Amino acid sequence: MASPFTQLQKILKHEIQDGYRNRIVIGGIGRFADHWYRQARAALKEHDPEILLILEAIYADLRRYEAADIEERRRLIEGIETRIQEALQRERELRASRPAPAVTPPPSEPAPAPPTPPVEKPREEPSMPAPSPRPERTVPGRARSRGAPPVPPKLAAKVEALGLDAPVHLIHGVGRERAQRLARLGVQTIRDLLVLLPRRYVDFRALKPIHRLRIGEEVTVIGEVMDIGSKQTGNGLTVIKALLTDGSGVIECTWFNQPYLLDRIKPGQFIVVSGRVDEFLGRPVFRSPEWEPADRELLHTARIVPIYPLTEGLTQRLMRSILKRVVDYWADRVEDPIPAWIREAYGFPDLPTALKQVHFPEDWEPLEKARRRLAFDEVFYLQIGLLEVRRRWRSVPGRALAFDETALQRAIEALPFSLTGAQYRALDQILTDIRSGVPMNRLLQGEVGSGKTVVAALAAYAVFLAGAQSAIMAPTEILAEQHYRTLIALAERWAGAGLPTPTIRLLTSGVSGAERAQIYGELAEGTCHLVVGTHALIQEEVAFQDLAFVVIDEQQRFGVLQRAALRGKGYNPHVLVMTATPIPRTLALTLYGDLDLSVLDEMPPGRRPVLTRWLMPEERERAYTFIRRQVEQGRQAYIICPLVEGSDKIEAKAAVEEYERLQREVFPDLRLGLIHGRMKSEEKEAIMSAFARGEIQILVATPVVEVGVDVPNATVILIEGADRFGLAQLHQFRGRVGRSSYQSYCLLLAESPSESAIERLRAIETIYDGFQLAQKDLEMRGPGDFLGTRQSGFPEMRLADLTDLRLLEIAREAAERLAERDPDLQAPEHRHLAEAVSRFWQGPVEPS
Ligand code: ADP
Ligand code: MG
Repeated sequence: MASPFTQLQKILKHEIQDGYRNRIVIGGIGRFADHWYRQARAALKEHDPEILLILEAIYADLRRYEAADIEERRRLIEGIETRIQEALQRERELRASRPAPAVTPPPSEPAPAPPTPPVEKPREEPSMPAPSPRPERTVPGRARSRGAPPVPPKLAAKVEALGLDAPVHLIHGVGRERAQRLARLGVQTIRDLLVLLPRRYVDFRALKPIHRLRIGEEVTVIGEVMDIGSKQTGNGLTVIKALLTDGSGVIECTWFNQPYLLDRIKPGQFIVVSGRVDEFLGRPVFRSPEWEPADRELLHTARIVPIYPLTEGLTQRLMRSILKRVVDYWADRVEDPIPAWIREAYGFPDLPTALKQVHFPEDWEPLEKARRRLAFDEVFYLQIGLLEVRRRWRSVPGRALAFDETALQRAIEALPFSLTGAQYRALDQILTDIRSGVPMNRLLQGEVGSGKTVVAALAAYAVFLAGAQSAIMAPTEILAEQHYRTLIALAERWAGAGLPTPTIRLLTSGVSGAERAQIYGELAEGTCHLVVGTHALIQEEVAFQDLAFVVIDEQQRFGVLQRAALRGKGYNPHVLVMTATPIPRTLALTLYGDLDLSVLDEMPPGRRPVLTRWLMPEERERAYTFIRRQVEQGRQAYIICPLVEGSDKIEAKAAVEEYERLQREVFPDLRLGLIHGRMKSEEKEAIMSAFARGEIQILVATPVVEVGVDVPNATVILIEGADRFGLAQLHQFRGRVGRSSYQSYCLLLAESPSESAIERLRAIETIYDGFQLAQKDLEMRGPGDFLGTRQSGFPEMRLADLTDLRLLEIAREAAERLAERDPDLQAPEHRHLAEAVSRFWQGPVEPS
């Protein structure tokens, strides 16, 4: 057979004659390179390091050919020519040194792998796949026989029938016990296995002769085992020691506690060893390197090797061989759910390619493309689902409410302040929805203190003018009560302006007996127009005469089901959810893609940024003095106790102690109050209203005040243990002050902040804008927290990195384009896509 090098020489000669235009082989030289390289690797009888090195170098050059310009191509071919000469020379040398005729294998050639006698089955590896007889010699990259799935023959039919949904225990070499271990990684089916992605990869492609090894590098060596033996260490471990030579030198390899290697590695055998070159007595050695016989398709060495997540009882080698088998057989049989027009539009590889590359990458670039493609799948399915939820929501008839627009205008004029432009815009969007006859499902997003409440109140007022009822649900009693007070104050102003005035009620678990019964009655009869409350609102007994508008405040505290329950109290009511969590817009589209979005991106006038300082522990006294001065000027303050691990009870106890200490030792002459999570709701309410009235000057609080409390006269917040809180939470705390035109301050104390805490403290000190902070948070910690805010009903993202905003945008756009063509995924070419989407959304789906 002609040497692969002479073959290549011929091709390149034509290419030179054709003027380096890369038209000589179909698909171009880049593609040809892969093919040629595999052929060459397979054809090489001698595992001679020199030749392998030359081969690698030529392959690398060939792959650069396509992207190169003519001049560079000329240089590349010249270089390759030289290397070919070297290779041919080396081939001649080898032939000369080995007189044996080429037809019979030379003595040094590795024996073909035996046809899997059961006894010889590698201990920690599953046995080889079913196709029998086993190919006498599996060569790198050559497609395995595609006849039968990699399962024992009698199970083949079963697996064929179940396809990718076949349980993994049916795979040959897996079995029940290993299936249980895989289950701990979330793998049940072949499909799960295909998307069980490596955590990382090690690049063992660098092939070197032994005499050129450098300490510390990660390399691959191919050589002949000269000697192998074992010895016991003092503590009873077995050490296997092998000497490996490639003609250029000798290197020692050791493995600990793997006595079975003695049966598997034999003197005279050619093996490939990959690992980090260590040092022993000044000489390079390999300690527990990856290894495998040189005559097989290489899986653990000499390539970019995948490193999988493991659990007890699973080894990397085992995982790799299972995955290799599964990927080889199944990847090409997976139907790609993503239509070709989308793949082409965004340049994504097809699914079989992506799966192959992500497990056993040829190079970093195709790997990156593959990962991105698989991540795209997730966000794309997510978007399709969200758009579908949105469409379903809008497909039912909603209330088209008509109200007296002039009366609403006068209600706005009767406010103690004028609305910001952003508030006007948001209100306008909400009112348009309410008039339209399509059920509203809108997210009102606004920085803390941006004035969301009044927007909701005005919308509720419009609904009242239209003759229907509204409900506002808040996550805590404190907030419900605060909203109630706000609304009552507004109603008084409207009454004062001679406008129709709604009847407003508060319904929390604290309201009981006759009062509760009366509210139930008023809601059922329609004489109560606006009710504010907590979970109490979604009790079964609560019924409305005509609930048309539902507001859910600080929605991250509510689960999807609670939202649905409140909505269920009316007939397709309009729904407004409000959140102060500033979410970058693209992420909002992803997390809340089923909702329309209104943003309050403007603060009421006269607000000054809250000056924020991170103080050293020894500056605590200064902080107290500062607070005292503010109080002397008539302002009020919060002191937030540190987050205490353990129970509410322990936290409450710590807060009580801190409160007593502050009252006794620091501010004996000032009026302090305490609020914590273990207090009864009446107590909390009493304390909060005393603070709101200014009777309490300094409020000591556990982190319960975090959300929504509005006392504009408070101008300082001191946060103890600030390192324990996340950025979003710190920003929420800070939002408790700065709610008036007084300059406000946020003081942070942290005993011994970690590095990441320091980064957070610096960020909060310098960044005042909630959206910028959210972006920072996203960069620092990833999107976990934002995802957390959506709670149940949101599918798990395995691959997608939600900080990759560009990918999110692409997915959104693609989903919209798809919805234009085929919203219900009815077209036959979208059958697999429809299946994939529903699989992705399996489990608790956002109800609509
Ligand atoms: P949040 O968006 O955090 O819920 P609130 O609705 O509690 O904010 O409003 C914060 C404070 O700002 C309240 O005291 C409210 O009365 C006041 N406020 C709201 N809108 C305006 C405005 N346009 N001009 C001045 N103050 C306003
Ligand atoms: Mg609020």
